[in-house]
Amino acid sequence: MKPSAFAYRRPASLQEALSLLEQGDDVKIIAGGQSLVPAMNLRMATPGVLVDLAGIESLSALNVEDDGSLSAGAMVAHNRFLRDAQVGAGWPAIPLAVKHVAHEQVRNRGTIGGSLCHADPAAEWAAVCLLLDAEMKLAGRLGARVLPAGEFIKGVYETALEPGEVLCQVRFPAPLRGWRWGFHEIARRRGDFAMAGALAGLAIDDSGLISAARLVVFAAEDRARRLDAALVGVVGCKPDEIDPDLAGLAAAAEVDPRSDLHASAALRFHLVHSCVVRALVEAAGKPAGVRND
Ligand SMILES: Cc1cc2nc3c(=O)[nH]c(=O)nc-3n(C[C@H](O)[C@H](O)[C@H](O)COP(=O)(O)OP(=O)(O)OC[C@H]3O[C@@H](n4cnc5c(N)ncnc54)[C@H](O)[C@@H]3O)c2cc1C
Repeated sequence: MKPSAFAYRRPASLQEALSLLEQGDDVKIIAGGQSLVPAMNLRMATPGVLVDLAGIESLSALNVEDDGSLSAGAMVAHNRFLRDAQVGAGWPAIPLAVKHVAHEQVRNRGTIGGSLCHADPAAEWAAVCLLLDAEMKLAGRLGARVLPAGEFIKGVYETALEPGEVLCQVRFPAPLRGWRWGFHEIARRRGDFAMAGALAGLAIDDSGLISAARLVVFAAEDRARRLDAALVGVVGCKPDEIDPDLAGLAAAAEVDPRSDLHASAALRFHLVHSCVVRALVEAAGKPAGVRND
């Protein structure tokens, strides 16, 4: 299939991009094109003008800031996060999850901003941003605003972006020291979108006890969701004494899984349970006899 005819613009500044976006309803941003172009080829999207953000240098910056936070321009490709030593050292939950995004070729082109704006409920980026309390910086005709990750994605393919707004940057707070992370997702084939997935984090204090815990479940509902309450029972325990099964059941009981052509709600309930158990086992460093790659 081929897309319908469109004009192509490549602004060199954010201001120029914002002015182009004001010029009509059929003007659309293109980032890596990994979700948009397939939709255009199927004529599910028929933009008249594509505004390519690739020429705006600031949107491709990936920096550790003076306050220790990580700022990622919306156009930073998935694979850059996997190859950046500072990201791996300070924010290990990012590569743990992002290596499961699609295939190498898609990860070379697809961007963090494109993934968040596309808002697929099974996208790993939304889960990581929720887990790490990231913030989204948006720019529009009326100025800039910052939203916490939990307020950015509103539902399936739905975000808080107003017409003409651009997601410019995602900021991850300074590294969480003493935390361990675990990730598990279940997809039909490697590289496919997950049918369910979980990301868990455990903070271990100086006496070796779990002092805090975080959990995100994704691909089960209309968007990724923090479910820290399901881990309340592990706080105060030693990592090798936790009962992951109990936490998995608590998390699965909290979700209202959707049914679609990939999985029924009943199947998703079981998948959520399995993903939470395995993510928690990995975070706790418990031997489990399960692979998580
Ligand atoms: C075969 C295949 C498998 C995949 N598997 C996975 C997977 O397992 N997990 C996963 O998470 N993703 C997966 N993806 C999607 C991939 O991660 C895409 O990279 C991502 O969803 C979109 O990013 P993009 O940069 O390509 O955005 P584009 O496709 O260019 O844009 C997507 C949408 O976001 C809008 N947009 C983009 N950037 C901005 C911005 N800065 N501000 C405002 N709006 C913007 C566009 O207008 C468009 O509507 C897969 C894709 C393919 C082709």
